Amino acid sequence: MSASADFSTHAVHNQAPPLAGTHSFRSDPVLQAALKREGGGGWLDRLDAIGQACGSAELREHGWLANHHPPELLAFDRYGNRVNQVRFHPSYHQLMATSMGWQLHSLPWVSDQPGAMVARCAGTYQMTQVEPGHGCPITMTFAAVPALRHQPDVAEQWLPRVTADRYDPRDIPAFDKTANTIGMAMTEKQGGSDVRRNSTTASPLGKGGPGQAYRLVGHKWFCSAPMCDAFLTLAYTEKGLSCFLVPRWTPQGDRNAMQIQRLKDKLGNRSNASSEIEYAGAWAVMVGPEGRGVPTIIEMVGHTRLDCVIGSAALMRRALAEAVHHARHREAFGARLADHALMKNVLADLALESEAALLLGLRLARAFDEAPADPGAAAFARIATAAAKYLVCKRAPGAIFEAMECLGGNGYAEESGLPLLYREAPVNSIWEGSGNVMCLDVLRALAKEPESGEALQAELAGGLGHDARYDRVVAELFADLAAAPAHPGSARRLVERMALALQARLLMAHAPAAVSDAFLSTRLAGDRLGCFGTLPPGVDLDAIVERSLKVG
Ligand SMILES: Cc1cc2nc3c(=O)[nH]c(=O)nc-3n(C[C@H](O)[C@H](O)[C@H](O)COP(=O)(O)OP(=O)(O)OC[C@H]3O[C@@H](n4cnc5c(N)ncnc54)[C@H](O)[C@@H]3O)c2cc1C
Repeated sequence: MSASADFSTHAVHNQAPPLAGTHSFRSDPVLQAALKREGGGGWLDRLDAIGQACGSAELREHGWLANHHPPELLAFDRYGNRVNQVRFHPSYHQLMATSMGWQLHSLPWVSDQPGAMVARCAGTYQMTQVEPGHGCPITMTFAAVPALRHQPDVAEQWLPRVTADRYDPRDIPAFDKTANTIGMAMTEKQGGSDVRRNSTTASPLGKGGPGQAYRLVGHKWFCSAPMCDAFLTLAYTEKGLSCFLVPRWTPQGDRNAMQIQRLKDKLGNRSNASSEIEYAGAWAVMVGPEGRGVPTIIEMVGHTRLDCVIGSAALMRRALAEAVHHARHREAFGARLADHALMKNVLADLALESEAALLLGLRLARAFDEAPADPGAAAFARIATAAAKYLVCKRAPGAIFEAMECLGGNGYAEESGLPLLYREAPVNSIWEGSGNVMCLDVLRALAKEPESGEALQAELAGGLGHDARYDRVVAELFADLAAAPAHPGSARRLVERMALALQARLLMAHAPAAVSDAFLSTRLAGDRLGCFGTLPPGVDLDAIVERSLKVG
């Protein structure tokens, strides 16, 4: 035996094999069932193909590289010309091309086949597990379409390329590209949630009004994905806050006067650039009625909020899959981690959270699919999206941390992928309406659009009569809704129960009894202590964990 073999210590034992290579659709029976149930059954083949790719080591490597080589600002070229470019790693472009190739930015807008929104969300759910940051421009491009439709002449010019599926990263005029991406610029230094505090101004270049050209002057404190081809922007005219489309290049083929000042140094979401910008007389076209900027752009916001729910569910799913996989392969104290009673409890609890989040996300997606032809579905989507965004996005960071701990020290190391998920998670809660703003939005919907409260109650009433714990919580909720308008200080309490009741309703109807019973006893009944892994005795932990990740 050689001397080096004699003293070699580097034998690798008791480490889990990589999870990469696991088909992300076939390993997820909850996703498969929800896709079919919510009307996306006609898209099974596409989702299966996406699952194959999303499980592949190759795509996961692109996700890794895009985050570990974050974008860089190139404000000026070598000659001193202002170019306002952001350079991304090639893997970022590969992720963008992949998501756009699957039409995750456009499917419901270009397909008449039923269930297109559900299918698109199921695809987004899988792709977010590969890499969440590039989803920002994908989501914004997708969500911009309903807002752009407020201005038919602008929509006619732009939508063919906004919904096209051949990603084109070149920094050239939008009309010369195979596909365009759209960003948004609402938030200013002095106000994000309260956009009425915006100070950016818009002056008409001619007669003014919808579809007309303006010049914008002002700053935006957050503008993500600043290499998008155009940005939906809020700015003041004499008639009030209005919505504009600001292209990177003017119709004359010059660089628009939209200057990227710097990129944000963010907690997570690192593959994606978020910038601060100045409009120094930028050319823009008005979208929608003058002075009605918020109602115009709110169409976009409604769709990005849906994606926050799907995105947070996806982050939890990826974390859960990593935790279950690790626990099935790692041994400690004479048994696989997954066979230790307390680890089973933690994994089962995480699986409940993950399943409840996905079921609610895809139920919402179905409401979006149905909304154009069904006012009841639109009313349900209006209120349930806000409630779901509040709860699901809030639950994600804690669930991901708990999953990270299942991997022990390995989970804290970057290579496990868990730190990326953990750092990413809070953004879904903060942007597009932070937690409090979402809860206050639910109160606003109840007050101003009473049909939304009625739609929510109709949904919940459908689950009555099967479980006393559910019946009690829903009865209390209905009593609160019937009483005087809720005090803003109690809004979180009200909205949390709404979202939990919606999740419970879905689990009672569609999940095995082990899952719905455990969820009801911990999330709706009163004996939960707070942390994950506190499911009460009698819960069928094995059944819950077993179905969470099917391999082979
Ligand atoms: C990574 C990232 C990317 C982003 N990208 C974009 C982008 O591309 N375009 C864009 O326009 N914006 C973007 N944003 C900005 C984001 O949408 C805002 O930060 C968010 O809307 C909150 O606004 P704010 O930061 O001004 O906080 P504020 O509005 O000051 O809110 C601060 C806190 O106060 C709470 N609050 C506000 N009002 C009330 C109230 N009435 N009662 C009780 N509590 C209240 C909020 O819930 C929040 O917790 C991005 C943010 C992040 C983190």
